[in-house]
Amino acid sequence: MDFNLSAEQEAFRQAVREFCQKEVAPRARAMDTKRELDEGMIDKMGAQELLGITIPPEYGGPGADYLSAALATEEMARADVSCSTAVMYLLTTGWSFLLSKHGTEQLKQELLPKVAKGKALVGILSTEPQGGSNIAGIRTRISRANGKLVVNGQKSYISLVREVQRRGGGYFTLASSEPSLGHKGMTSFYMPLDLPGVSTSLIEDMGRMALSTGNLDLKKVELPEHYMVGEWNKGFYVGMEGFQAARVLVAAACLGCWESVLDMGMSYLKERDPFETPLAKYQGVQFPLVDSYAALEADRLLVYRAATAVDELYRGGVTKEKSRKVSMLAALAKLRTPVDAFQGVSTVMDLMGAYGFTTRSEVEMALRGVKSYSAGAEGAQNIMRMIIGRHILGDEFAPQR
Ligand SMILES: Cc1cc2nc3c(=O)[nH]c(=O)nc-3n(C[C@H](O)[C@H](O)[C@H](O)COP(=O)(O)OP(=O)(O)OC[C@H]3O[C@@H](n4cnc5c(N)ncnc54)[C@H](O)[C@@H]3O)c2cc1C
Repeated sequence: MDFNLSAEQEAFRQAVREFCQKEVAPRARAMDTKRELDEGMIDKMGAQELLGITIPPEYGGPGADYLSAALATEEMARADVSCSTAVMYLLTTGWSFLLSKHGTEQLKQELLPKVAKGKALVGILSTEPQGGSNIAGIRTRISRANGKLVVNGQKSYISLVREVQRRGGGYFTLASSEPSLGHKGMTSFYMPLDLPGVSTSLIEDMGRMALSTGNLDLKKVELPEHYMVGEWNKGFYVGMEGFQAARVLVAAACLGCWESVLDMGMSYLKERDPFETPLAKYQGVQFPLVDSYAALEADRLLVYRAATAVDELYRGGVTKEKSRKVSMLAALAKLRTPVDAFQGVSTVMDLMGAYGFTTRSEVEMALRGVKSYSAGAEGAQNIMRMIIGRHILGDEFAPQR
């Protein structure tokens, strides 16, 4: 068992860190205040082939491994602790990864080169007004008529709506194709937003302010057949494969935000000396920082292990056993990291005193942003517990619906 990153992965992380510290970190506070991502920053990510970095060379991307995607996501959140940049990054990277595995050749040729160049963004359309946790209960309908896919329904709490409308791109989407079959009657597809029948409205969030969240109304939206992703009635399984991979990137973003805030806290506490001794010298101050650091290092191992399992899943063919391993590790990483990160950021805020609570420090931005990852984002915490419960107790102990 090798716990070290390869020399190539280390060099990649260093290069992304330099990019992020130069191009992302100086814009973070202004983006949060203006409530907009900086378009020039996204252009630069595209020029560096950082968006959708797992996209294979035949579709214009660098074809990096999934662990590298996790490292890049961590660096994005390290530089912009509000998590706005990281969410845009991880959604586009995680869901374009899935489309590169399951999209039709025509869709991949049409979309992925644009994503790789930063000319299109990608997200996930799953949650609906009646609730996001029960994917099998999705009510949006997809049918086929006159050689087209036709979609009717509503989606809620969707990230990236304004950004996709501005820059282009679309969403991996889940809908019910045969409601009587439950999760075995779902079909997945790709949906751009600039189509007749799509209307959107925005919702105000408390964190990751630079990124939009919105609702969608879908009325008789027609899509070409080649936008179907995977087979008819097999969308649930494709969606689950996407969620488990995306959860790893969510956890990686939490690591980056948390690590950055710990660094901010330690620098501040080494200087701050209300009793003419730096606060960092008091054990009452040091020990909570140490506990947080210990949790961070443990969570990091879990996240990297989960990312490595995603790479192993596609190496030499997908098997049920490998897929179960990814499902378990991704759920463990998504269960632990957002909660530990929020706790870590909150600890630093307390130790900083009043300064941490002001907008002069970035800690308050991190506290609001990182909370989004336990409140929602690729599956709620109890859903992670249900997945892990099935793994450790057996499928026969899955909760009754
Ligand atoms: C900032 C933000 C951005 C988002 N972006 C997107 C996006 O881009 N695309 C998208 O599709 N969705 C998005 N979501 C929605 C998100 O994925 C959902 O919040 C999540 O799936 C949970 O759904 P819900 O909020 O409707 O909660 P509900 O399903 O109503 O659940 C509420 C609570 O009950 C718990 N719960 C639910 N069922 C059970 C059960 N059987 N047993 C025990 N506890 C249970 C859950 O853990 C949760 O805490 C976003 C959410 C947030 C907060």
